[in-house]
Amino acid sequence: MPDHLMNTYLPLPVSFTHGEGAWLYDTNGTRYLDALGGIAVCALGHAHPAVTKAICDQAGRLLHSSNLYRIENQDALADLLCEKAGMQRVFFSNSGAEANEAALKLARLYGHQKGIDTPQVIVTEGSFHGRTMATLTATGNRKIQAGFEPLVPGFLRAPYNDIDALRTIAGNSPDVVAILVEPITGEGGIRIPDEDYLATIRALCDEHGWLMMLDEIQTGMGRTGRWFAYQHTGITPDVMTLAKALGNGVPIGACLANGPAADVFQPGNHGSTFGGNPLATRAALAVIETIEKDDLVMRAGVLGERLQAGFRTRLDGNEGIAEIRGKGLMLGIELDRSCGVLVQRALDKGLLINVTADSVVRLLPPLILSDEQADTLCDSVCELIETFLDETP
Ligand SMILES: *Cc1c(COP(=O)(O)O)cnc(C)c1O
Repeated sequence: MPDHLMNTYLPLPVSFTHGEGAWLYDTNGTRYLDALGGIAVCALGHAHPAVTKAICDQAGRLLHSSNLYRIENQDALADLLCEKAGMQRVFFSNSGAEANEAALKLARLYGHQKGIDTPQVIVTEGSFHGRTMATLTATGNRKIQAGFEPLVPGFLRAPYNDIDALRTIAGNSPDVVAILVEPITGEGGIRIPDEDYLATIRALCDEHGWLMMLDEIQTGMGRTGRWFAYQHTGITPDVMTLAKALGNGVPIGACLANGPAADVFQPGNHGSTFGGNPLATRAALAVIETIEKDDLVMRAGVLGERLQAGFRTRLDGNEGIAEIRGKGLMLGIELDRSCGVLVQRALDKGLLINVTADSVVRLLPPLILSDEQADTLCDSVCELIETFLDETP
């Protein structure tokens, strides 16, 4: 037990020395199949040669120069992201929470520019947006907020996947300037909203002049079988945030803006010392090039179907299974009981998984998984769950 780390995490008693693709190796040389990918971060797996090469090459040239000068990698990455997203502008940050902070500041400024002095942002229950003061306030989980009051003002909360609640807010709250929502909840338990949820939010935003802001920090970068989850629908948001898989482990976040949101920030309104630095943006460029070259967005969709079909074949009909759901490689198996202990049991069997929202086994495997690894993963997870359900009343 280290004496000098703040007690913010309860890490499992294992430490990894290196990885290769979907495999991680611990200090004893034991191998683990990584179906969590550093929480949706290592979408290209570990030690991907293209990312490693890009980082090493960039480290030998220039790590940092600051945003007081042009950064060519940053320009190139912004171009690529905007092309993929069908959006116009990007602000780069170093994390997801910071990307959401940028979105929230942008929304407030947008409101003030329209003459709204106390702008409100709608957020949803069960959401997760980060741990900074504004983003933990936006987060729809009391556990994350408790003890950190006073929270940041200017938020209104609606149940997730509830359009009527949004209509009610629209009728009562003239100061709303934006809505911030996850297309599929990540930490909240892989909840997938109704087919028309995003399109109806888009229509409401257009009707009321709100910014539609999507937190794609977990869903983005190909994971759901599209570059961005909103691309399963016909809409484009005004603001989208990214982080996690964008740098495959190199810290980088992004806040993209379109249409009425594109020109809200002007020089002096927002900034970051490290944001968009040559190293992080070079890593992200390599990530995008690799996803494209190896057709990994499509692959995520195919692998997701394969895994879901496998889970259904084996687990459907088991009374302890509440629901199997997911899109692409964002998968959740909800049990009818708390199942946090499965994380340690999986670890003991050489498998890295996660349990979120108390009873949802969450899998976020890398997009480079082979068919064989997917089948191994499916077998191991099913066996783990079956044994657990048999033993646990
Ligand atoms: C992980 C996550 C965040 C926070 O990202 P950090 O990099 O930890 O600040 C925000 N929103 C969603 C949906 C996430 O999954």
